[in-house]
Amino acid sequence: MVYGAIEAGGTKFVVAVGEKSGKIIKRESYPTTEPAETMKAVIQFFKQYEDELKAIGIGSFGPIDIRKSSATYGYITQTPKLAWRNYDIVGAMKKEFNVPIGFTTDVNAAALGEVSLGAAAGLDSCIYLTIGTGIGGGAVVSGIILEGFSHPEMGHIMVRRHKRDRFTGSCPSHSDCLEGLAAGGAIEKRWGQKAVELADNEEVWNLEAHYIAQALMNYTLILSPERIVLGGGVMKQRQLFPLIRQKLKALVNNYVQLPDLDEYIVPPKLEDDAGITGCVLLAVDAEKSN
Ligand code: ADP
Ligand code: ZN
Repeated sequence: MVYGAIEAGGTKFVVAVGEKSGKIIKRESYPTTEPAETMKAVIQFFKQYEDELKAIGIGSFGPIDIRKSSATYGYITQTPKLAWRNYDIVGAMKKEFNVPIGFTTDVNAAALGEVSLGAAAGLDSCIYLTIGTGIGGGAVVSGIILEGFSHPEMGHIMVRRHKRDRFTGSCPSHSDCLEGLAAGGAIEKRWGQKAVELADNEEVWNLEAHYIAQALMNYTLILSPERIVLGGGVMKQRQLFPLIRQKLKALVNNYVQLPDLDEYIVPPKLEDDAGITGCVLLAVDAEKSN
């Protein structure tokens, strides 16, 4: 008896089968090219386990359609990756495998992974924010993934500009939203160098923390999560953590009593496995609620 997991990313698809506990038994990864090619590999992987497969959990890059009543439920929708735009990923799996399928965003899956088995284990709620090529966030409260008419888009909130920041912002929809000012892509455009090459430039990380701290203040005041896990390539710059904590403390200004900041703002414990582990757990949930 195994649970299938698909972490559908813009660069690669990670697939796995795991146990009910979330433990991964076997995994593979395939480059994200176009649906016909990538999904063929994905389907072949799960065919090996067809007899024991109980359910599948898919955590996908987005935006995606998660409204069960919608005609395009299970689709990847407005993605800039044209080959995947309006692609029915849940349908493609349903056609091949007669098992319950759970479907959510990659970051919601990562939040589920971290709150179940990672840096927020034992707590009731957490937010997972990835700061990578773009910025995205997901939240889990009492074991339930937070969704509404759609899924949260925590990367596209508005933040106050730093007065010395002259960069116009790189978000195609909002220019200077959080993602437009603080994602890895924005850092690269503003400074003309890859984020990793700017590791020793203090100004870069102070500015980065200026924006991330504002976002965390907003998430904190709106959702009051018990922990916020910050992942993604940019957060590999570990010097950001103390800077973000300091700036968040200053912004909140004792208005609410925050948890101990060293425990409140933390890196992922499952590291790069947060998403795929969350997808296994999503499959477990899909079987239960079926
Ligand atoms: P993706 O968001 O595409 O899934 P990542 O989370 O790895 O993938 O994020 C990629 C972004 O993170 C790029 O903008 C890259 O420049 C940046 N990045 C990757 N590694 C580092 C690092 N060690 N330090 C700073 N930035 C990094
Ligand atoms: Zn935006």
